[in-house]
Amino acid sequence: MNLINHWINGRSVSTTPSRTGPVYNPATGAQTAEVAMASSDDVALAVAAARSAYASWHNAPLTRRQNIMFAFRELVANNRHELARAMTAEHGKTLDDALGEVQRGLEVIEFACNIAHLLKGDFSEQVSTGVDTYSVRQSLGVVAGITPFNFPVMVPMWMYPIAIACGNTFVLKPSEKDPTVSRMAAELFSEAGLPDGVFNVVHGDKESVDALLVHPDVAAISFVGSTPIARYIHETGTANGKRVQALGGAKNHMVVLPDADMDLAADAAVSAGFGSAGERCMAISVVISVGDAADRLLPKVRERIAELKIAPGDVEGAQMGPLVTKQHLDKVSSYVAAGESEGATLLVDGRGVKVDGFSDGFFIGPNLFDNVTNDMSIYTDEIFGPVLSVVRVSRYEDAIQLINDNQYGNGTAIFTNDGGAARKFQNEIQVGMVGINVPIPVPLSFYSFGGWKDSIFGSHAIYGPEGVHFYTRPKVMISRWPDPIHRGVDLGFPQND
Ligand code: NAD
Repeated sequence: MNLINHWINGRSVSTTPSRTGPVYNPATGAQTAEVAMASSDDVALAVAAARSAYASWHNAPLTRRQNIMFAFRELVANNRHELARAMTAEHGKTLDDALGEVQRGLEVIEFACNIAHLLKGDFSEQVSTGVDTYSVRQSLGVVAGITPFNFPVMVPMWMYPIAIACGNTFVLKPSEKDPTVSRMAAELFSEAGLPDGVFNVVHGDKESVDALLVHPDVAAISFVGSTPIARYIHETGTANGKRVQALGGAKNHMVVLPDADMDLAADAAVSAGFGSAGERCMAISVVISVGDAADRLLPKVRERIAELKIAPGDVEGAQMGPLVTKQHLDKVSSYVAAGESEGATLLVDGRGVKVDGFSDGFFIGPNLFDNVTNDMSIYTDEIFGPVLSVVRVSRYEDAIQLINDNQYGNGTAIFTNDGGAARKFQNEIQVGMVGINVPIPVPLSFYSFGGWKDSIFGSHAIYGPEGVHFYTRPKVMISRWPDPIHRGVDLGFPQND
């Protein structure tokens, strides 16, 4: 069986791993590869390669770093279909969705192509007599990224293009569930001219993550994943003296006011609830209906659900693929059962959905609950699957209160035609990313991405300007020079002496 290995110092590291893990095709349910699981020795090898590459990379001219980023951008764009196919084969998402993911990653690379501008410092002349002050931002050293399964191309690209353009070297530990695309990205980066050791990939699980968290040569850690692990990464990384940004899970609410355009809201609820089978940190998992909104919204949502095509992600017209693993399928199904037994009204049951020819695939259809209350597990927990819960409240203020009381604060949305109500929402809601008649408010790469509350640990949001700040530290100089020696009249062309 194909063994997916680490990428260290510009080459595939083919030592026989002591441990491997299975990689599946979620549509067929069949194991397609083994992935090497890094030991702390493998991690040490990758960090050593990154450390030695840092010596010259952080001093490489900005224009060279930029040019490599431009070349990488072209290679990723030219290989977008290969990357998308590899993602679909291991994650299960549809090819269209996977192509969209590559596009969002490309946008961060494009942002990093502008690094020369982003790293400009400030200069103040004559802050005191003969004294000037100026500032620069310098790279940190070796930085690491630990990423989740659900966006195997895009989320790592939220991190390493900016980190590397800033002059750092990088060790990526992607999800062990869909590891292939990270190796592909590493090969493309080498082809773009990136020196060996600047970008390294180690595959693995907790053992490799723990090795990164305590390694003295790792200066900073970016993490994206579930909240319990994000909290652990932040606590352990900072206790070991590292700068840490750790983005966690979510429970994203969409408020629908009675005056909303119900067709727009129904399209949004279905797209944001069931896109990528609900395996998105910005998926909508709760619709809060204010007043009688749900009575008009739900029939439209059900009509749209009935038309969704559930199929392997590489089948023409597929809209919803399988979940990532059998274990995750079982977990999502158990939440649907819990919702029923806790007293919510199950309007659409996606369990037991059959996809012709793919009976062993990890498929589940959309699930829709009405009359959900905030003490039920389908409301309190992040399910990370195609389960949409409708909570009914009578007053707009109760909708805002419900969201503000929630443990998470990643994304939220309001659907209304009332500008005043929307403005109140943006002002009062305690969530990091807010959509107004937009269900998934993911900022473009020139803003930064980050939630509030238990959706983030650490003080920096990811990518955009905050990404540049995270991967650099400021240095301020105060200088005074004696008056230049007066050389008298010289009509000659200036010499460099
Ligand atoms: P996860 O937390 O299980 O895994 C994330 C990473 O941590 C993986 O690389 C994994 O190998 C590693 N890991 C897992 N268990 C660990 C442990 N005990 N100790 C150390 N490392 C460990 O998350 P996932 O299931 O891969 O991804 C889904 C989660 O990611 C969801 O909660 C989702 O909301 C979240 N997510 C958040 C964002 C965001 O921007 N906030 C974006 C995407 C995904």
